[in-house]
Amino acid sequence: MAPVRLDEALFASPDPSNTPPSNSRTVSVGIVVQKYGGSSVSDAASIKRVAQRIVATKKAGHDVVVVVSAMGDTTDELLDLAHEVSPLPDGREMDMLLTAGERISMALLAMAIGNLGQQAQSFTGSQAGVITDSVHGKAKIIDVTPGRIRKAVGEGAVAIVAGFQGVSQDSKDITTLGRGGSDTTAVALAAALDAEVCEIYTDVDGIFTADPRIVPNARRIPLLSYEETLEMAANGAKILHLRCVEYARRNLMPIHVRSSFSTKEGTWVLSTERIAERLADEVPTEQEASVMEQAIISGVAHDRSESKITVVGVPDKVGEAARIFEVLAEAQINIDMIVQNVSAAATGLTDISFTLPRADGQTAMTALARLKDEVGYAQLQYDDGVGKVSLIGAGMRTNPGISARFFKSIADAGVNIEMISTSEIRISVVVNEAQIDDAVSAAHAAFDLEADEVEAVVYGGTGR
Ligand code: ASP
Ligand code: MG
Repeated sequence: MAPVRLDEALFASPDPSNTPPSNSRTVSVGIVVQKYGGSSVSDAASIKRVAQRIVATKKAGHDVVVVVSAMGDTTDELLDLAHEVSPLPDGREMDMLLTAGERISMALLAMAIGNLGQQAQSFTGSQAGVITDSVHGKAKIIDVTPGRIRKAVGEGAVAIVAGFQGVSQDSKDITTLGRGGSDTTAVALAAALDAEVCEIYTDVDGIFTADPRIVPNARRIPLLSYEETLEMAANGAKILHLRCVEYARRNLMPIHVRSSFSTKEGTWVLSTERIAERLADEVPTEQEASVMEQAIISGVAHDRSESKITVVGVPDKVGEAARIFEVLAEAQINIDMIVQNVSAAATGLTDISFTLPRADGQTAMTALARLKDEVGYAQLQYDDGVGKVSLIGAGMRTNPGISARFFKSIADAGVNIEMISTSEIRISVVVNEAQIDDAVSAAHAAFDLEADEVEAVVYGGTGR
């Protein structure tokens, strides 16, 4: 399927999908926040294309606030450069450096929009009022005071805001929100501006039942609840930044995830109530109706970013597990799954395995090694050849037999399950990393998630 030519598609009629689904049919002229990821602004031609799209939204009567990421792989290149000059770059300087990426794209985008005869002004995160704590590299937004953005928009301009950055309330230093943080900037601004919708533009047509790079006939999910989207984001689906979904859920901000390379409807992320309203009060599209009716399972997510540590031969005594996980907590490491085996009767020893972000593997091993004498375990094993496959769906709560079907599909694909964990609406398994694709495809097929024809088009290259 060839990507739609935007210049033909966009100017034919105002884009009707800029308003969130609701039961009111009034024509709205509220604020729309649009976020464009790095793959949507990777070169001058892309920036001009995005500029056209923004101007079209403005012409359709909306006030537009745009959040933009750094061009293409700029952030990675800046990171590499930093590590060339210093093995352990200072956090403050790293944030100074990385935020330059977004400054480049925001200024170029403002120029491109200006060139189309539409007034536009760019703002850094700090100028846009994004106030954070002072943790460099993963700052949290504590307040958004977008006075200058409101003023610019009130004067008829399109406001362009640099994503993924803010300013620390205490130190007044520039901070970044962590990789992929522009999504969070967009939702936080949308909430502060009381926008109608936050549109997240990416290089695929929305959120799919599995990564289309693995399962080519994955289906676009038309409507998805915040809870399911959170599980997807937390379990490796790279489509949205986790914190952005948390923020949207708290503020009931509708998110529309869609491609900047086409004008197709994407995925609406909404509250369960809003989804029910839409299905009941409005005539859902045929696809929405058929998908939602049987939507016990929404999709299959996978994650290649974790590794597994096993503490072998832990004495089966009160307090040993607490001690091990205390040490990891002190090292600021987030643990995902934990499995403790039944201890062998003969020895009274047990094994404890857990998964954690691969990036924290070294820190965790060092911290645990220091504990060897105190706890008296036999040895530590480190395995970074693992991956996680997760089945997600709100319908799991009320439908029995989902785990059995999931595990059977994985077994039939010849894949061994190493660990299992569940939430109310998710089942995850840890498998050999080399077999992730097989497990994802098998589970996807077992729950009949395939589209009748291939509908997923991957327009960009980086998955963001
Ligand atoms: N440019 C930053 C990154 O690549 C932020 C973002 O894209 O959201 O992580
Ligand atoms: Mg990026």
